[in-house]
Amino acid sequence: MALIGGPNITSGNKFAEGGISRQRVRPGTLRRILPYAARYRGPLAVLILASLACGAITAASPLMLKFMIDDGIVPKKHDVVMMLALGIVLLALMESFVLYVEARCSGRIGEGLVYDLRTEVFENVQRQPLAFFSRVQTGALVSRLNTDIAGTRQAITSLLTQAVSALLTLIIVVGTMIYLSWEITLVALAMVPLFLFPARIIGRKLQRITRERMNLDGEMGSMMNERFNVSGAELAKLYGRPAAESALFQEKAGRVRDITVLSVVHGRMFFIVVTVLTSMTTAIVYGIGGSMVIGGALQIGTLVAMVTLLFRMYGPINQLAGLQIQVLTVLVSFDRVFEVLDLKPIVDEKPDARQLPRSRTGSGADAEAGALDVEFDHVSFRYPAADEVSLASLEPIALREKDRGDSSWVLKELSFVAPAGKLTALVGPSGAGKTTITQLVPRLYDATSGSVRVGGHDVRDVTLQSLSDTVGVVSQETHMFHDTIRANLLYARPEATERELIQACEAALIWDSISALPNGLDTVVGDRGYRLSGGEKQRIALVRLLLKSPPIVVLDEATAHLDSHSEASIQRALKSALAGRTSLVIAHRLSTIREADQILVVEAGRIRERGTHEELLAQGGMYASLYQTQFAEEEPEADIQHLA
Ligand code: ADP
Repeated sequence: MALIGGPNITSGNKFAEGGISRQRVRPGTLRRILPYAARYRGPLAVLILASLACGAITAASPLMLKFMIDDGIVPKKHDVVMMLALGIVLLALMESFVLYVEARCSGRIGEGLVYDLRTEVFENVQRQPLAFFSRVQTGALVSRLNTDIAGTRQAITSLLTQAVSALLTLIIVVGTMIYLSWEITLVALAMVPLFLFPARIIGRKLQRITRERMNLDGEMGSMMNERFNVSGAELAKLYGRPAAESALFQEKAGRVRDITVLSVVHGRMFFIVVTVLTSMTTAIVYGIGGSMVIGGALQIGTLVAMVTLLFRMYGPINQLAGLQIQVLTVLVSFDRVFEVLDLKPIVDEKPDARQLPRSRTGSGADAEAGALDVEFDHVSFRYPAADEVSLASLEPIALREKDRGDSSWVLKELSFVAPAGKLTALVGPSGAGKTTITQLVPRLYDATSGSVRVGGHDVRDVTLQSLSDTVGVVSQETHMFHDTIRANLLYARPEATERELIQACEAALIWDSISALPNGLDTVVGDRGYRLSGGEKQRIALVRLLLKSPPIVVLDEATAHLDSHSEASIQRALKSALAGRTSLVIAHRLSTIREADQILVVEAGRIRERGTHEELLAQGGMYASLYQTQFAEEEPEADIQHLA
């Protein structure tokens, strides 16, 4: 018997499934929880045993009270009174031990479940394609990892403990009551439907409120996430927006407040109704039972025991009824977590994916021997449609290919070969599709049609690990984790030795700057690496590349203007980093273009011209005119960033 064993929770299930369309908990959610609970069979079994013991103890102490009154106090037998008093103390001690065991087991199961779900969600989200992250709000995502999974914890820790022990207690208590006085038991049981009715109504309402509250929570978290980082804060300050931002946040936080108040009120309302009903029932039982004692039909001790038992009966009934509410809200949490787990990675590995041959790398001629070429064969591409993704929720990116016009094509039947060990430069106007081309090589996106091959292997046929080992990417923006420089560098190759680290830093001409820092390699770089200058960050990216030492390099040359000294040193560092590797570079500098073995001029998703700098100039076509307008006068150390 696992999580869903007790009939009480099963009734919660019926409840939920009856209202799927309105409450939006998908069918099958409950069934999907089972395998998770099944991993904790051992602690579950102990938990159930402990609950059983708890139920027995709950019923036993009123019984002892009855015997103390009827067989000890009334007939004035001191020894019986003392023995039973001692018994009640022992019972209390046993109860505390059993409660301890219960808490330990339910904690272990609950936290274990949270761990399982959390790690699974993290792994799945990490495997989503890049398009997913550009569409989804980070805050909403993090909220799933935090709030919802914490919500599922409740399912096991409190719900299961309550469900099992409440049910067993109820059975034992009602049995004892019938044994003592079936008449009073009947009266007490007749009141039960009065308890269940409000639970049902309030439960439904609370489930709707819970889902909305979680969505609003996600929105609020999302906003904080976007504003509380250097770029967001900078934007707000530069545009004088703090007041407007606060107003927007107040509005969102206000909605969270209102909905939370609503959910607390509904939760309490249920409790209040139950308390009133309990008092009324107690009064009725005392009324009827009192007359029976006066008439001699009932012993006084039995009446006292009955009233004590009554409280112990309504306790579990309250719990079971409240459980319905909790089961419903917990189902919402589980459902939201499963929604994330259901997102299919769009870029995925084939089951029979092969290793890309690991070529020898290094520098110069050595590396060339093992380098791989990159080939685009009639590649067409468009980005997944964005209109399908709602902001607060994480609905998967649906591809509505049919409905989209021709303008959505970013690359059109594009073919070229970037030869092994050579430098291929991509130039062309902004928006031409150069970045997109570079993203298809490491499979950040997959070609919509046609194929991208590395060393003759379609990138979709090889393992993601071997592809990422083979292709090194340096983009314009170098992301730095909030950590030490060392940790940021080792990300590229965790097993690199200190010596290799220093050598790579030297080759990228940044070692002098790093060693001059107070903590050297162990200096922490701020949120998103803000303490490093643009030029330093570019060189850090080169160090990562050198450490990883991939045979193929895809690089978006930085456009940022640097002083001529930094500029020259970055160019030199770059040259040594690319030597002997197959390089596909979005070139913004004339010096890079001049060195390229092949220049591809990209425009509107097609390759317009190809050749070397001299050949293309001689052709007198698009490249020649771009060259004339952009940097002819800037020769020889010119920069053609306006071109791109
Ligand atoms: P380039 O690098 O040559 O400036 P890009 O490859 O960045 O060009 O962009 C090519 C086209 O693809 C542009 O029209 C751009 O708007 C579009 N695009 C780029 N990234 C995305 C994305 N994540 N989703 C949708 N469209 C995109």
